[in-house]
Amino acid sequence: MLFIGGGFSALLTSARLREKGVASIRIVERGADVGGTWYWNRYPGVACDVVAYDYLPLLDEMNYIPTRHYAQGPEIFAHCQAIAKKYDLYDLAVFQTTVTETVWDGEAQRVRQQPIGHLERAGAACRHAHELVDAARLDRLQRFRGHSFHTSRWDYDFTGPDLERLGNVRVGIIGTGASAVQIIPNLAKHAKRVHVFQRTPSSIDVRDDWETSDEWAAKQGDGWQAKRRAKIVSKLREQADRKGRLRHGITRDEKIRRQENNNIDQMMRIHKRIDDTVNDQATADALKPWYMLMCKRPCFHNDYLPTFNQPNVHLVDTQGQGVTEIG
Ligand SMILES: Cc1cc2nc3c(=O)[nH]c(=O)nc-3n(C[C@H](O)[C@H](O)[C@H](O)COP(=O)(O)OP(=O)(O)OC[C@H]3O[C@@H](n4cnc5c(N)ncnc54)[C@H](O)[C@@H]3O)c2cc1C
Repeated sequence: MLFIGGGFSALLTSARLREKGVASIRIVERGADVGGTWYWNRYPGVACDVVAYDYLPLLDEMNYIPTRHYAQGPEIFAHCQAIAKKYDLYDLAVFQTTVTETVWDGEAQRVRQQPIGHLERAGAACRHAHELVDAARLDRLQRFRGHSFHTSRWDYDFTGPDLERLGNVRVGIIGTGASAVQIIPNLAKHAKRVHVFQRTPSSIDVRDDWETSDEWAAKQGDGWQAKRRAKIVSKLREQADRKGRLRHGITRDEKIRRQENNNIDQMMRIHKRIDDTVNDQATADALKPWYMLMCKRPCFHNDYLPTFNQPNVHLVDTQGQGVTEIG
């Protein structure tokens, strides 16, 4: 069995295949280890946005309880490595290798990778930012004469392990999605100046984070994650059934109206939080999401909005245009 990529998908599926007795499993991964997202993303403040007890795979099987409600990146990466060790996925794994082509072998009736010797060696994990950002169609980043990198290839050599080398540096960060929301408060603590280039504001809700208490952890018996998930699924089904019954017989327009009203209530709460937190009215207004709640991945953070009150932080709102050129 061959997996292209060694992220959560490959790890979880491999574990289930092992349980079914599949012996030969090979992961081919561009990075130098398993983890996928959690291998690549090492930026300051990296953490999951879905409760770790639900998000991390195989917690029952690994007999592991995350240390926080929202686990941080290094803990999730370590969990991925632990899964690969437990399920013997390192033995056949091939790292720093990119699959460039797969070919259907008609005679053998199977797909071959084209050929393993023809794989591009990924080399150092840190690639130039413009290679990654090109995908987002940002032209002419190459013209930028300062130092640049993509957040998923964080350059700690440049910033220092605790961002202490940014004291005299003006930093521009492009985008205000989930990663930027986690990074910006950390940048603002250390950089001389931070310019936040925003295309579309994210919705920022409260982050109820806490350390896992020993008492709570001690109460979780065997199979706690599976039981927790079953409970969530059954609750969601009940909710869907209830909504279905309530909506029975109402028109499509009425359904949409109710959805919109619910959305407005949530967005008003999010807007109020911005008004209550951000001092400068123009900045507060620019930070307000103007779309239906789930149109953009919702974010949860307690330090992001207050960061815009710092004198060294400046929001550059491109009003939906995004950054198109760097001169
Ligand atoms: C910072 C961050 C936080 C996130 N938080 C959450 C969260 O809280 N909740 C949530 O549900 N989701 C979250 N996500 C989404 C997250 O990506 C998924 O939850 C999950 O980790 C994806 O796993 P995956 O295995 O499908 O893909 P990935 O983790 O993306 O792994 C794919 C791997 O395939 C490799 N690869 C790709 N092409 C090739 C090739 N041709 N040859 C060799 N290797 C290749 C890549 O290098 C990569 O390592 C987050 C994402 C980020 C970036």
